[in-house]
Amino acid sequence: MPGETCVFCGIAEGKIKAKVRFEDGEIIAFEDLKPQAPVHVLIIPKKHIPSVSLAGSCDKDIIGRMVLAAASIARSEKIEDSGYRLVLNCNKDAGQEVFHLHMHLMGGRRFAWPPG
Ligand code: AMP
Repeated sequence: MPGETCVFCGIAEGKIKAKVRFEDGEIIAFEDLKPQAPVHVLIIPKKHIPSVSLAGSCDKDIIGRMVLAAASIARSEKIEDSGYRLVLNCNKDAGQEVFHLHMHLMGGRRFAWPPG
């Protein structure tokens, strides 16, 4: 749900504190509260979209811009050459905990593949 019941809407609206790394009119990126890598940033649309499976064709530009924002943050974090992982968890089996679409940008260490 948008608004007060969604923690990421709260961050997007500036009502909940976060360490913001990038922001424009449609997107905000902030450090994950429980980082799983030396660099762990979440990139979200300010618009409340619960999950990838509920995104529509009208969201294709904003999702594309999220990927480009992640690449830009990775460049500024100097993990472009070493590499990084972008993750979108969708629903239960993927372990999605926050139902406001978000992309994890993680880097600064090696990751296993396949993921656990
Ligand atoms: P997911 O499992 O993909 O839904 O991941 C949700 C992520 O949001 C987790 O990595 C949490 O640590 C992170 N998270 C939850 N609440 C906050 C918050 N208030 N500020 C920053 N990150 C958060």
